[in-house]
Amino acid sequence: MAYEEPITDYDHIVENCTCAFCGCNCDDLEFLVKDNHIVGVRHACRLGASKVMEDMDQRLMVPMIRGEDGELEEVDWDTALNKAAELIAGAVRPVFYGWSETSIETMKEGIALGEEVGAVLDNQATICHGPSLQAVQNAGYPVLTLGEAKNRADMIVYTGSNAMNSHPRHMARYSTFPRGYFRQRGRFDRTVVTMDPKYSDTAKMSDIWVGFEQNGDYEFYNAIRAVLKGKELKQDVISGIPKEDVYELVEAMKNTQFGVVFFGLGLTHTLSKQRNIDIAINMVQDLNKFTKWVLMPMRGHFNVNGFNIFMSYEMGFPFGVDFARGYPRYMMGETNTIDLLTRKECDVFMVIAADPGAHFPSGANKHLAEIPVIQIDIHWGPSTEIADVVLPGSFVGVEVGGTSYRMDGVPIFMKKAIDKPETCRDDEWIVRELKERVAKIKQAQVASK
Ligand code: SF4
Repeated sequence: MAYEEPITDYDHIVENCTCAFCGCNCDDLEFLVKDNHIVGVRHACRLGASKVMEDMDQRLMVPMIRGEDGELEEVDWDTALNKAAELIAGAVRPVFYGWSETSIETMKEGIALGEEVGAVLDNQATICHGPSLQAVQNAGYPVLTLGEAKNRADMIVYTGSNAMNSHPRHMARYSTFPRGYFRQRGRFDRTVVTMDPKYSDTAKMSDIWVGFEQNGDYEFYNAIRAVLKGKELKQDVISGIPKEDVYELVEAMKNTQFGVVFFGLGLTHTLSKQRNIDIAINMVQDLNKFTKWVLMPMRGHFNVNGFNIFMSYEMGFPFGVDFARGYPRYMMGETNTIDLLTRKECDVFMVIAADPGAHFPSGANKHLAEIPVIQIDIHWGPSTEIADVVLPGSFVGVEVGGTSYRMDGVPIFMKKAIDKPETCRDDEWIVRELKERVAKIKQAQVASK
């Protein structure tokens, strides 16, 4: 890697900023600001720094509406908001999707708008940690804070997660390397285990790599549970792992003082899906008969957990919340975005701070291309190509403050560091404006009857 000269040409430093990338929500960043632009970021990993610094690339700057010729045309804010409000007010089955890269304050306005029009509110959990949330409802949530992991954990297990690539500062800041109150020697006081079919970068940093077979997760955890319950394994090899290694691993897990299982989408999305998480939670419960063990999903977007926590607190359900009957409902396979799109139920789609165009299955995207789409975002992306109304928002944690929830459920206020472009608006303001304009249209409809 080429040596990069330190950045010295800046006007001032904004300290204690929070990274708006992954669920680690690192809140120790320093932004180097020159002429209202961030020219350098200290303490962030490359993922976080590049998101903050290269933000102006492909930035959405002005509201746009798709014209009859199929091209997006620049319009003023009033025109764009009125058009979006008309679409939402006239919808029978609107879906408001995304929310994981915006603030809780924006979500609050989103719930009010969703209730007003009977929409479905859903977030990226529907295509990522949804099975984990289902499992938590089935089997419980033996959770911890990342501070507890840092101060207490002497055994760290990463399963189905390559933290070194997906959450680059996770090991350095919370789990493996930092000195903790009870772990004064940092890395030397901890045993790190990676359970993953791949010999990932995280496995390379670990003391033990358990490379069980692809889709062998459920069987492997079952074997661990059996040994914890004092049973003898009848097979010599379980999911590709010799039974002697399973016995040895279980002994190590039983004899630790404080163990943590961090699991990623590698566990959530293999064949057994939420059942993998069910059994991982059950394994943690079994381990607690011997010593202290806890478990946490490695959440991706910086506020994907925030949406699930906020919706659960406000509405009782974590995602896929349907207001069509005038009260909140939630049913897996019924009220989730992908199901609604592939069944062609949704007739107006609002995407906020997300990119379904890049992540959804083709059947869902095909239906999106056939219905009106409203996009609230800061970047041009595949969703912009199918959007009928584009409303340029602001970068939470850089251009506007707001609350987010870290992967462990700790709320963090993300401060503003620079001014947003004059032509853009806060996400919170945009959704509130839509809510007020939709309410006026609905009132006028009632009055005219
Ligand atoms: S680990 Fe995640 S939150 Fe921390 S700096 Fe990197 S991308 Fe940002």
